[in-house]
Amino acid sequence: MIQRIRGTNDVLGDDAQAYAALEATSRRILERAGYARIETPTFEATELFARGVGASTDIVQKEMYTISEDGITLRPEGTAPVCRAYLEHGMHKLPQPVKLWYLSSFFRRERPQKGRYRQFWQVGLEAIGSDDPAVDAEAILLLAELLEAVNARGLRLRLSSLGTPATRAEYRAELQRYLRANEDALSEEVRNRIDLNPLRAFDADHPGTRRVMEGAPLLLDRLSAEDREHFEAVKGMLDAAGIAYEIDPTLVRGLDYYTRTVFEFTSDALGAQSGVGGGGRYDGLIEEIGGPHTPGMGWAAGVERMLLASQAPATAPPPLTLYVGYAKPEYRADAFRLAADARRAGHTARVELGGRSVKGQAKQADRAGALYLAMLGDEGVSLRDMQTGEQRDVEPDTVMHHIRGNIL
Ligand code: AMP
Repeated sequence: MIQRIRGTNDVLGDDAQAYAALEATSRRILERAGYARIETPTFEATELFARGVGASTDIVQKEMYTISEDGITLRPEGTAPVCRAYLEHGMHKLPQPVKLWYLSSFFRRERPQKGRYRQFWQVGLEAIGSDDPAVDAEAILLLAELLEAVNARGLRLRLSSLGTPATRAEYRAELQRYLRANEDALSEEVRNRIDLNPLRAFDADHPGTRRVMEGAPLLLDRLSAEDREHFEAVKGMLDAAGIAYEIDPTLVRGLDYYTRTVFEFTSDALGAQSGVGGGGRYDGLIEEIGGPHTPGMGWAAGVERMLLASQAPATAPPPLTLYVGYAKPEYRADAFRLAADARRAGHTARVELGGRSVKGQAKQADRAGALYLAMLGDEGVSLRDMQTGEQRDVEPDTVMHHIRGNIL
């Protein structure tokens, strides 16, 4: 027996309904705010992610599915591809910001566990071409609205600002000096990453490291006046929109390219993998992948995690109006056509596909929850109201007329 690859999922039954409902909800909320759908390819040049996600990130260092001989990688995230598309299609000529949303699957070679998969789905948005703090606030608000619409439970929104690259570089050096001065108390992993990614020290669980980090300098205290003003404006708009958030000066997102605003929604209904969605501003990314300086802001939220955190009941498929059966094989083509005609006229209809006996077909129509059963035979069409049991012979081309008028 060949089984699916560990860390991947088949989406079927209620899950498939829930995915479809989430897509419809996302479209409604995001398109209402002027975001247009974009789909980028499933794989891209490896270089795009190496530069656009960042060489020191876990994603690039150990989680990418790369086919080296072709120089391609299965997309591990959506921001770099959308920025690539923005450049490739000259979208800087459109009114800015260009607002795009996606719902796609992504691939990361992570250790699979509940809520963490090797192929997973994200809904996300990117607003490219404006550094207005209203872009940040609107993006955060839209994710809050989406999470509310899917009834995600136990939500927390953490918010911070990472400043600009220059501030970050200075702060980074200061933090590195601080970590080196306290090297003895740090975990080996953190010590090994002082040069590469000192900010990750804030994420450590190691008790010694945590004690050191309690006294560490904070980037939020080092922001330039301009960046502080930008952050204050974002907060002011979130306050005006009634969005509750906590300032978390240690919030570090996994990707290298974030500048200024960063945020993350977590859910306490999720256990260890508590991140539902997050994002931030990435004013340096487009330059990183070869374009002109262009500000951008975006987020991505895990579809599986949103559904795990939500209490939305599965939406039922539309009820079946008509089941079409046939008493003899020679009426099979007519039955097939009747069902097709009914669907074309906008009804839900199915034709017998299992070669069952007449009795078996009636049972199958009942099991499928059909409102009517049309049985084709020597006498023409016998139409039965499955709820009342009433039955009568009708002309083949009046079946839908009888059903619509409910005149049996
Ligand atoms: P990221 O792109 O890492 O910022 O992740 C954004 C969101 O995508 C997270 O908050 C999760 O909800 C979801 N996510 C990220 N990685 C995975 C994964 N391996 N499996 C399932 N969901 C994921």
